[in-house]
Amino acid sequence: MKKTIKDLNIKNKKVLIRCDFNVPIKDGKIIDDNRIVESLPTINYAISQNAKVILFSHLGRVKEANDLSKNDLSPVAIRLSELLDKEVIFINKTRGKALEEAVKNMQSGDVLLVQNTRYEDLEDKKESSNNEALAKYWASLGDVFINDAFGTIHRAHASNVGLASNLENGVGLLVEKELLNLGKLDEPERPYVVILGGAKVSDKIGVIENLVNKADNILIGGGMVFTFLKAQGINVGKSLIDEDNLEFCKEILAKSASKIVLPVDIHVAEEFNDSSFSHIADISEISNEEIGMDIGPDTIEKWKHILQSAKTIVWNGPLGVYEMPKYRTGTSKILEIISSSNAHTVLGGGDIVAAASEAGYKEKVSHASTGGGATLEYLEGKTLPGLDIISKRD
Ligand code: AMP
Repeated sequence: MKKTIKDLNIKNKKVLIRCDFNVPIKDGKIIDDNRIVESLPTINYAISQNAKVILFSHLGRVKEANDLSKNDLSPVAIRLSELLDKEVIFINKTRGKALEEAVKNMQSGDVLLVQNTRYEDLEDKKESSNNEALAKYWASLGDVFINDAFGTIHRAHASNVGLASNLENGVGLLVEKELLNLGKLDEPERPYVVILGGAKVSDKIGVIENLVNKADNILIGGGMVFTFLKAQGINVGKSLIDEDNLEFCKEILAKSASKIVLPVDIHVAEEFNDSSFSHIADISEISNEEIGMDIGPDTIEKWKHILQSAKTIVWNGPLGVYEMPKYRTGTSKILEIISSSNAHTVLGGGDIVAAASEAGYKEKVSHASTGGGATLEYLEGKTLPGLDIISKRD
């Protein structure tokens, strides 16, 4: 077990916390503050210990000067201040005198947020390449480092791996919660059922290869399913196909046909939009001109029986083009089914957590992860660099 913030003496110390404040922002307004809310237990704990709390986070991607203002973290400072009911000192710089002076002037219990760590990517991708000098500089601002950003725990960046390499360290309470819940998937209560959707087969190859040995069933939907159906010789019309991975689909189906469960019917459309004619087709009846947009009602019914007897369920990726309300049915119905299940239910971040949150199902699952990519890498059985570097409990 890794050390957590509670295993370390942080009283009156300067604690650097890497948070995941990578929230959607439109016109300067935060659309979904879930990730900020999820960070509160760790920040509040640090405040309760009279620490000087210095927060780091990335926001979006910074490749050119134009990206700086688009990915300004100041709206997060405002929202965080409201949620904590306390002033949050925002420093519009990632280094320099203003930052150093502000840190020097902090009192116990103060909270300070540093500007987007990826501002450092503008020059030689310093943050994302874990630049040693940058990590040492940031480390010089504090005494202890806490990684509470599960969303980037599969990355080796200066603000996580770099800081942990230079300071006494532990994970925060959010990362601890994520690991406890994902850890239950290592020795799952059976039947263990995995639901995979989303657009690309290529993103899920590692997960399928690893989980086909661990899970009892893998239910596949979303855009990726059409490559699997084509691999079985089924005509999928103009549906999304990943030709490069057709062979992979054929091989995995040949090896594990009994575990992999594909849809029996599909909601197909004439065009890739919400307004064109659409209907439910048996998978043997998709015509050359049609596009698969969502799983159909018979599939939902069949999957319902599998899911109702499951004791452990994990889900990553939407089962249809859920951005278009007409093709949200499969994702919504399956969410409804698993939200009334007594199984250990884990939503693997990203789109599916957003969909669950919007439909009011998020509180009804056992765990909604804050990290889509990180969850996938965990499920692939990969080492997570941001976690690997954290000290173990004695
Ligand atoms: P991912 O980022 O891999 O989780 O994929 C999410 C995307 O998959 C969403 O934008 C969905 O619209 C898309 N998707 C789901 N089902 C389909 C489908 N049948 N055809 C095309 N795209 C799909």
